[in-house]
Amino acid sequence: MSRKFLPFSRPAIGEDEIAAVAAVMRSGWITTGARAAEFEDRFAAYCGAASAVALNSATAGMHLALAALGIGPGDEVITPSMTWVSTVNLIVLAGAVPVFADIDRDTMMVTPETVEPLITSRTRAIIPVHFAGACCELAPLRELADAGNISLIEDAAHAVGSEYDGRMIGSSGTAIFSFHPIKNMTCGEGGMVVSDDAELLERIRRLKFHGLGVDAYDRATQGRAPQAEVIEPGFKYNLTDIAAALGMGQLSRLDGFIARRTLLAERYLCLLADVPGITPLAVPESTSRHAWHLLIVRIGEELAPDRDAFMAALKGKNIGTGLHFKAVHTQKYYRDHLPSTDGGLVATEWNSERICSLPLFPDMTMADVDRVVTAIREVGDAT
Ligand SMILES: *Cc1c(COP(=O)(O)O)cnc(C)c1O
Repeated sequence: MSRKFLPFSRPAIGEDEIAAVAAVMRSGWITTGARAAEFEDRFAAYCGAASAVALNSATAGMHLALAALGIGPGDEVITPSMTWVSTVNLIVLAGAVPVFADIDRDTMMVTPETVEPLITSRTRAIIPVHFAGACCELAPLRELADAGNISLIEDAAHAVGSEYDGRMIGSSGTAIFSFHPIKNMTCGEGGMVVSDDAELLERIRRLKFHGLGVDAYDRATQGRAPQAEVIEPGFKYNLTDIAAALGMGQLSRLDGFIARRTLLAERYLCLLADVPGITPLAVPESTSRHAWHLLIVRIGEELAPDRDAFMAALKGKNIGTGLHFKAVHTQKYYRDHLPSTDGGLVATEWNSERICSLPLFPDMTMADVDRVVTAIREVGDAT
């Protein structure tokens, strides 16, 4: 009775990309080298960024950004609880205190109004998330950060190709992108930090490879001493040429992916408009190009007893869904170790209980969208 499983996400990998990866594998140089450097240049050009550093994940990028800013004990970092756990984990691992800003109930992003009251003399950074492919209220958040001499780091894991007021995310400021397989473009695993702060980026570049200041490729091509010295203790977060070859293929197709995602999302929104118990996110006016990384809806009681029951019902119809995200402050370690938020995260908690991400990926067909919507209507009829 049930048709083939429709996953919530699936990477779109083409034969050209497979061939590009194979070519690297045959070349004799598979780790960080010319391909990774080329990927950095092409990615920076795509975003209109001054410069970019390729890493093996966005999490690595966030770790290095916090480290490069010297954030540690006694410092506070303002970020949403409605985010992926990696950011908050890294703040805690750095010895700093995460301070959760509530989100706008309908865009699921922090706002200047939710962030401003949390700023103290200890605040060192604000890390907003561009959620689902839309853009947060960047200009007023930047003003707030600048006024307090606070760093602003954009979590742009969902926002490769997103535009804010006609300008690409990453074209100014400091932004971190992810190439995890569910993201809009993938390297298998990978990430990119772009910044117009040359000093910050230089420190990130150094910290990504043992703090040597040069990586193995620089040494091979630029004839630096094979025993480069540690300038400061660093990490091992470099992106391989194998991954970069895949990333460049994906980057060249990214605009096509986003166009396809947009058509699929528009069809969903049109077909779901009159389904009781389905509330999609609102898109801020300043988002001039939505990358449609995720199609998130909030599930009401008309449709299913709760969100988990809704997800289970769709799974029963062979349709996968996702949850982006379960609020970080509601998870065990953070419940046990952070002070109570005293009901201060009302919109975060409201969404955390109701959100569900529907299948959305470039190789989906319009018929797949129709199938999901039909299944959702059936779930509602059975409730
Ligand atoms: C995926 C994601 C990350 C982490 O990306 P990785 O490349 O997996 O480390 C960070 N923040 C958000 C909002 C994400 O969705």
